[in-house]
Formats: sequence, C-alpha cells, structure tokens
Amino acid sequence: MAELLKGKPVVADMKEELSKKIEEFKSRGINPKLGVIRVGARPDDLYYEGSIKKTCGGIGLEFEVFEFPEDVKQEDFEKSLKDIVNSKDIHGILMFAPLPKHLDEPKIRALIPVEKDVDCLTIGSAGKVFADDPTGFPPCTPTACMEIINHYGIDLQGKHAVVLGRSLVVGKPMAVLLLRENATVTICHSRTKDLPEVCKEADILVAAVGQPRMVNADYVKEGQVVIDVGINEDPDNPGKFCGDVDTQSVEPLVDKLAPSPGGVGGVTTVVLAKHVVKACEMQTT
Ligand code: NAP
Repeated sequence: MAELLKGKPVVADMKEELSKKIEEFKSRGINPKLGVIRVGARPDDLYYEGSIKKTCGGIGLEFEVFEFPEDVKQEDFEKSLKDIVNSKDIHGILMFAPLPKHLDEPKIRALIPVEKDVDCLTIGSAGKVFADDPTGFPPCTPTACMEIINHYGIDLQGKHAVVLGRSLVVGKPMAVLLLRENATVTICHSRTKDLPEVCKEADILVAAVGQPRMVNADYVKEGQVVIDVGINEDPDNPGKFCGDVDTQSVEPLVDKLAPSPGGVGGVTTVVLAKHVVKACEMQTT
C-alpha cells in the first residue's frame, strides 16, 4: 500500500512559519494584506473564498473581498480595480477567473501589478516564472505540489517526472517547477499517444487533467510517486468531490500518493498566504 502524502502536516508546518512572519511584520507596524476580487457569486468561487478566509484568519493575515455584480460594466470595473490594486495597504491580489464573458479579461488581468500578482494571473508573472526569476509568483496549485514534494523529502534530481495536463494554471508551470529541481520532464495532454505507457515510465506522475478517476492501475507501476491535483464533481456521489486518480486501484501499486481530496487542495490556500507575505516583504524592504 502506498504511503499517503497528506496535505495536513504540510499545512501545519507552513502555517506555523507564516504566523511567526506575520507577527514580526505587525510588530513593525506593517499589516500584510490580501485583496480578493470577485465578480458575481459562482459557487466554486465562494467555496474557495471560504477556504481563503479560514486560512487567513488562522494565521492573522488581513484579507478583504471586493465584490462586483455579475453585470458590472468594463469601464466601471477597470476604474475600481485600479484603485484596489494600487492601494498601498494591499500587498497581494487574487481575482477569481474566468470573468463573465462580456468583460475583456486579458485587459483586466493586465491591470494587476506583477509584484502583487500572487497567483500568476498576468503574462508578466508567467514570463518571470518561465524565466526562473524568483520575483515572479508561480500559480498556487503547482507550488502546492512542490511544497508536498519537499515536505516529504522526495528527491527530484535526475528523476523522470510526467505531468498530465498542459494548462497555464497547473500543467505548464508544474513542468517548469519540476525542471528547476533538475527533474527530466514530459508533459502530456489529450493528443498524447499511448498515454498509459508514457505515465508508466514516470518516477513522479502529476495528474492534472480534470477527468474524474481517469488515472487507474493501467497508468502506474510499482515504486512511483503520484500527485493527484484533480478536483472534480464525483460522478458516482453527487455533491462530493474526487480526484483525477482512481485512489482505490492506484494505492495498492505505487510507492507514494498525494490523494485528492486530502492532498494538494488544502495546501493551495496556504501557498497563497505565503505568496502574500513574500509580496509584502518585497514591497516593504
Ligand atoms: P484544464 O484547463 O481543463 O486542463 C486540463 C488538461 O488536461 C489539458 O491540458 C487537457 O489536454 C488535458 N486532458 C484533459 N482530458 C485529457 C485526457 N482524457 N487525456 C489526456 N489529457 C487530457 O484543467 P486545469 O485547470 O489544469 O485543472 C486540472 C485539474 O486540477 C482539475 O481537476 C481542476 O479542478 C484541478 N485543480 C485543482 C486545484 C487545486 O487547488 N488543487 C487548482 C486548479 C485546478 P488539452 O490541452 O489537449 O486539451
């Protein structure tokens, strides 16, 4: 049976360190603060907002939600957003995406200053991440995968990592972060041939496809480390979530498994807080 790489101990360690740092800032009269921008009230945005609130509350990180109606006009939204993102009191910005279709999302994203872009929403941040510039924040989810990998002491040097998925928010930056640690990386997607065979060649397999339980026993082999990034509505249990990995069939085979739920998801919001604290550090020193 695989060792389960659970998110909880990772979260506990990160929170302890962050609480201390935030305390230090406050003793110097600085209040690290996250601004969250939400247009409308999509249930998944509200769910994520709830977890952010809980995480921030637990470590003393200030947090404010700026809510806009679903039918907000482009000009009005741009005007308000400029005021929010340029406020000296706010060190990090998270904007829920996608925005409603009538808004020009690329134009709006570009208004977020790169130094406050704590979840890699701008092309400027993505450029920094791909150029290995440490002042650019990678998206929180692949960073959470790296926190898990580091916490559990998984060696990536010279290992073959296979990333399943090539989105800008998970797959591509995940590959860059693995490459930084000297893994040899293969990125797979919906047109990849012989997908199960390619996945079987991995030492580390990261599943980020958005397909409930797609990665089953046919995709894995003994000795592997598998990280499940997927958060999907469970087709067999309405109202519940499941990952991209079929835990029941994979767990008996592989060496280590970060399960979903219970793995990456919980670490993501703490990474967001960590990025805000780092952004605050960069903006105040
Ligand atoms: P996405 O934008 O839909 O991208 C999915 C990727 O998987 C695409 O590159 C797609 O290939 C590939 N893919 C889809 N079906 C495939 C198949 N049958 N075979 C091979 N490749 C396939 O999704 P995402 O935003 O990256 O998210 C991926 C998963 O992570 C989702 O379950 C999402 O809910 C979860 N997620 C979790 C967190 C967290 O905090 N833990 C955060 C964000 C996302 P093509 O490019 O060829 O279409």
